[in-house]
Amino acid sequence: AAAQTRTTQTRTTPSRATPSRQRIDALLAATPTDLFINGQWRQAAAGASFAVEDPATGETLTRVASADETDALSAMDAAAEAQDSWARTPSRVRAEILRRGFDLVQDHAEELALLMTLEMGKPLAQSRGEVSYGGEFLRWFSEEAVRDHGRYADTPEGNLRMLITRKPVGPCLLITPWNFPLAMATRKVAPALAAGCTMILKPAALTPLTSLYFTALMSEAGLPGGVLNVLPTDSPASISGPLMADPRLRKISFTGSTAVGKQLMKQATENVLRTSMELGGNGPLIVFEDADLDKAVAGAMAAKLRNMGEACTAANRVLVQESVAEEFIAKLAQRMSALQVGSGLEDGVDVGPLIDAKACTSVAELVDDAVRRGAEVVVGGQRGDGPGHFFAPTLLRNVSPEARVVREEIFGPVAPVLTFSTEDEAVAMANATEYGLASYVFTENISRGLRIGDRLDFGLLGLNVGVISNAAAPFGGVKQSGLGREGGAEGIAEYTSTQYVGIESP
Ligand code: NAD
Repeated sequence: AAAQTRTTQTRTTPSRATPSRQRIDALLAATPTDLFINGQWRQAAAGASFAVEDPATGETLTRVASADETDALSAMDAAAEAQDSWARTPSRVRAEILRRGFDLVQDHAEELALLMTLEMGKPLAQSRGEVSYGGEFLRWFSEEAVRDHGRYADTPEGNLRMLITRKPVGPCLLITPWNFPLAMATRKVAPALAAGCTMILKPAALTPLTSLYFTALMSEAGLPGGVLNVLPTDSPASISGPLMADPRLRKISFTGSTAVGKQLMKQATENVLRTSMELGGNGPLIVFEDADLDKAVAGAMAAKLRNMGEACTAANRVLVQESVAEEFIAKLAQRMSALQVGSGLEDGVDVGPLIDAKACTSVAELVDDAVRRGAEVVVGGQRGDGPGHFFAPTLLRNVSPEARVVREEIFGPVAPVLTFSTEDEAVAMANATEYGLASYVFTENISRGLRIGDRLDFGLLGLNVGVISNAAAPFGGVKQSGLGREGGAEGIAEYTSTQYVGIESP
């Protein structure tokens, strides 16, 4: 594939024109569709493959090799074999490979963005945003790789010297979801590489192409064979089961639904695997009467509608103080009705298709359930026509706290608005969920914002802002939203274990 062989590339400037069929075909032809094991592209041992579809049209884009247990064990052999020399590779060398990976992602930003829009559906401008966000993990962890220090100290009694070091945990299994095809991969791959771990990446079956293209870039950046192995498959349990049963695997890092995360945690107990779990969310966005309402509306638009609402950090529920509810709903309705829905390839589109027909049905069911329980549809409310999995941006008011749309993760462009009267009530409503990932508070009174933040059981809080993800910040949840943190200094610690050496005092 061209992505493997190209060594120099001039950066392309984003064009506002809809990408031509010819450009799309050339990109698909240049994108690897095989498994990547021990530094080589290979077909699946059993010769199996699966189709990757464009959610805007339902058409097949290409077919990708589907790994099974035999491939998984070959990848495990390669990762185990490469572990020792990768761990002993000087951190500066690992950092430089990561940095070259970052540069290559920038050089190929347009290709990566277009692939993401093709396989996942988000508007091209948002795909470009993800390339920029996702790429930053490579730069950030190239910088962290050389700063992961230990310490040397006396015991308080003076009888020993303590040497405390951090070592890579060993070969990791990284499983990613379809909603952020690049960033979810780089957020795991970059810290694992920085820490000195080898790995097997299993991208979501709905969106494997971005990860395969990214893998070609990392190989071009100089990664030795066996360090990063990539196994697309449409039968994930057939590879995760054997891998997690293999004593050579030392860690699993999973991003996806809480249901699958719980199953994997059970499997992880067998070999006492280290686990990091980035799971579902049910984020509240709380608007107080002393908020700047325009800022709150802009924050709600970003937190709710970015990525078609298919984000674990999405503001699932909008909680507005009664005294400003009318004005807030009117402003939000105006912004939401102006959104353009359509293929993410077209300039000016704000909301692309949902990932598949199942997603559309599940969002429609949540809206119907809310309406049956008395909710009023202010904007949208229905699916789009024709091929592709479109759902109209939808604003609901008078929503019952019992409605499923309030209690479950929506993963679609639907904003249910509920009202509250006091701070205590807002906090109680916000925390009334088994999830605890992202939350948002809008108030111009910063001490109120911090006071509420202290009482919110969420791993992330946006104060007067609707998007807070950053490679330098620790991302992760509490309660059933998961375990561990990605990004920041915390992100690399997840891939290391601590060793203490007690040394006789001189
Ligand atoms: P999913 O759980 O269906 O799939 C996630 C990944 O797990 C995919 O790669 C899938 O192929 C794989 N998988 C599915 N069943 C498996 C099994 N039995 N064994 C091993 N692997 C298996 O989730 P999804 O629909 O791809 O993603 C949406 C979910 O991800 C939402 O709940 C969302 O909130 C969550 N998410 C969380 C974060 C976060 O950082 N907390 C980020 C993005 C998405």
